[in-house]
Amino acid sequence: MPGTSENGHDRHPRVVILGGGFAGVGAAQKLKHADADIVLVDKHDYHTFQPLLYQCATGLLETTAVGHSLRDLVHGQENTTVRQATVTAVDLGAREVQFADLDPLMYDYLVFGLGAEVNFFGTEGAAEHAFPMYTLPDAVRLKNHVLQRWEEADRHPELVEDGALNIVVVGGGATGVESAGALAELYRGEFAKDYPNVPQEKARIILVEAGPVLFSMFKADIRAYTEKALAKRTVEVMVGEAVKSIAPTRITLRSGTVLAAHTLVWGAGLQGNALVQSLGLELARGNRIPVGPDLTAPGHPEMYAVGDVAAITDAKTNHVLPQLGSVALQSGEHAGEDIARRVAGKEPKPFKYRDKGTMATIGRGAAVVQMMGGRTMKGRAAQVAWGTVHLALLPTNEDRAKAVVDWAGAGLTHQRPGRITVETGEERDVAAARSARSSGLDDGPDSGRS
Ligand SMILES: Cc1cc2nc3c(=O)[nH]c(=O)nc-3n(C[C@H](O)[C@H](O)[C@H](O)COP(=O)(O)OP(=O)(O)OC[C@H]3O[C@@H](n4cnc5c(N)ncnc54)[C@H](O)[C@@H]3O)c2cc1C
Repeated sequence: MPGTSENGHDRHPRVVILGGGFAGVGAAQKLKHADADIVLVDKHDYHTFQPLLYQCATGLLETTAVGHSLRDLVHGQENTTVRQATVTAVDLGAREVQFADLDPLMYDYLVFGLGAEVNFFGTEGAAEHAFPMYTLPDAVRLKNHVLQRWEEADRHPELVEDGALNIVVVGGGATGVESAGALAELYRGEFAKDYPNVPQEKARIILVEAGPVLFSMFKADIRAYTEKALAKRTVEVMVGEAVKSIAPTRITLRSGTVLAAHTLVWGAGLQGNALVQSLGLELARGNRIPVGPDLTAPGHPEMYAVGDVAAITDAKTNHVLPQLGSVALQSGEHAGEDIARRVAGKEPKPFKYRDKGTMATIGRGAAVVQMMGGRTMKGRAAQVAWGTVHLALLPTNEDRAKAVVDWAGAGLTHQRPGRITVETGEERDVAAARSARSSGLDDGPDSGRS
């Protein structure tokens, strides 16, 4: 599909890649040698390594271990331009992408990899008061908030009784379990030493899951191991309980139970990027774009949908693949390779997913892995497997080397060097407002709700 310029001469086809996550970067890197102009667009100037967000939120890793300069990832790729811009619309008929802060771009091929976003399922107060865990700013915001709660409680011990240090984590899937485990280790490890005057035993981490079990996607032996590992870290688990409403200092459950907690971490649901609703395509469950075997959208052979935003049916199992880093990377790479083939006049190929297993980390030395055939691993062996699979997802060898040093250092020293608050003026204002609300010191609309 060679492109034609405005004056009628042949030009290189233009490939516009939307999103610099695993999927978008995978596509861009596989187009390195293609005879095409590649434009990689993201609203941020960095690629986010989401599997490590909770380690950033708990001070184990610094932001640069989780975010990597996007431009750096395509250095030496002469056919590729990076643009930091926010996509506002895509006109599939006109093959044009519109931006909030950049002139529209026409394309010959489109790789749509804008990822997913949090789904609060309409829960009252969630958009205002919950802390989601999906982006790097989310992780930093949560870290700063928790650190500020402990500093406040150290100054005003009466806040501990009001639940200032309690955290409710919503969602018994990987994000919820990993966040609860990491927060508990931060509390019982570093905070116990940082704040010797604050009564640790009064600071609770409560994991709430609406379904009957945690980790419903795993086998029973993994679920039993997870429950024990969480209990060992003093995480309290409530299953069969859904959150009804969220106020700054109180969480109300459907059963009527009210939990005193000044922090609620939302790890309960995702949906495809909101932009997909304006594409005029029929969508699959969870706002995802259903794609064919070659990962193109129905009726649009020039548009590939990849990663979390796509509903990709695995040819082997006939099931829709989960929203995982390895699915995103492999689907993005497939789109890049396929477009390179088509630009070279060759036939596209169907996507084949190589399953690396489903895995999660509950805490130091405690991970779980379930392979496609059903084989399971737990504990340190599973943590090594987790490390191996996730090292492969890191974008550069330099990142891999750095991660090995960071992970080994954290494992040996148990240090969390990132547990400092670095505020811009704006963050300070927001934190002060939140803090005043939590302490009941202001007369704003939320202060009377607790
Ligand atoms: C807390 C957490 C832990 C996880 N842990 C694991 C794990 O252990 N193992 C695993 O395999 N997977 C894990 N995942 C899932 C995995 O990270 C995702 O499946 C993967 O990141 C999806 O990649 P993606 O490229 O599709 O989307 P994303 O990584 O979300 O990338 C989308 C990109 O699009 C950009 N964007 C969005 N909207 C716009 C717009 N309007 N304009 C411009 N740019 C825009 C975003 O800035 C972003 O960079 C985890 C996810 C989370 C949230």
